[in-house]
Amino acid sequence: MFESLKNLLKHFTGSEEKASIATPAPATTPESAPSTSATGINLEHESPAQAANASITQYITLGKFNLGLGSIGPDNRNDVDPKVVDEMYQAIAAGLFNIPVSGAVPEICVDGRTDKDGARIGAPCAAGGTLSIVYGGDLGNNSAAADIDEMQLTTQTVSTLKEKGHSTGVHGDDHSSCGCGACAKAPTIYQHIAERINDIASLVSQLGINVTESEKESIVQQAKNRLGQAGFFAEDRAAVVQAARDAGALYEELVGKHNELGIALNTKSGTTVDRSAIRAKYGPQYDMFVVDAWAFGNAAKDINTTGDEADEQRIAKAITLQNVATASILGHGSLRIVPIA
Ligand SMILES: [Zn+2]
Repeated sequence: MFESLKNLLKHFTGSEEKASIATPAPATTPESAPSTSATGINLEHESPAQAANASITQYITLGKFNLGLGSIGPDNRNDVDPKVVDEMYQAIAAGLFNIPVSGAVPEICVDGRTDKDGARIGAPCAAGGTLSIVYGGDLGNNSAAADIDEMQLTTQTVSTLKEKGHSTGVHGDDHSSCGCGACAKAPTIYQHIAERINDIASLVSQLGINVTESEKESIVQQAKNRLGQAGFFAEDRAAVVQAARDAGALYEELVGKHNELGIALNTKSGTTVDRSAIRAKYGPQYDMFVVDAWAFGNAAKDINTTGDEADEQRIAKAITLQNVATASILGHGSLRIVPIA
């Protein structure tokens, strides 16, 4: 599935580039008429202005899919230079900030911030770290127990992953009771998936992942079941992070405010994006959410209890939807998705 994501990302960004180039060109005089080769291919190149425009518009925004209900995003910032933001997108897309990681499943959160020393654990990222596997595993499971709650599910998932030899992780921050948005807003994220599955699936389909009607139905039904299950979601959101820690998950305390300017969607196996290196190059206020999508399929395989391929696929897609829905709840419509293929 994620091989197709990789290929289609390439195709997708390519066709967007063409769309930008196809914007009406200024009227040409006979002298400056575009030269045409023997094969009839137009050899005229874009003007520098068109090229700059093409480079930023080649990335899709959450807003394009009516997503992005939150506030984090470039349009709400006056402390960054749009030219530098664009340069950063290009460098990230080219893989210049990719660094190797040893883990195979998501372990730390997509959060763009760092700890007080400017560092993060070097591990694959998804929304909520290991909690992405908890929520994605729950949403993608069409035979989930109705008598289990979020805290028990968290303990169970961390234990399963540890038994399979994986490291697990969660985080908070230095100023909130629950500093992880994916955890703090998990009920809202389930609600968002239930209400906006078509918009979310439409974005995901642009990335090359087809969520079928029956998969959508199953995932929406499971989201609704949990929202209707009294006491499923813990009242105290920080208690969920604590439950993961008690089961053995590593903990990061991130500092400061959210400065994410985009979503790095990384499909390069065995790598993540180096947040500290981005800051070192562009400035401390330049951050990105980092989604290591290549690791989602591995997590689905290890958390699926039935051994059935269809169940595994649905869980991988549910993890993907949980990541997009989290971005949509926390992020602004102006957040761009920057693929690294
Ligand atoms: Zn988080």
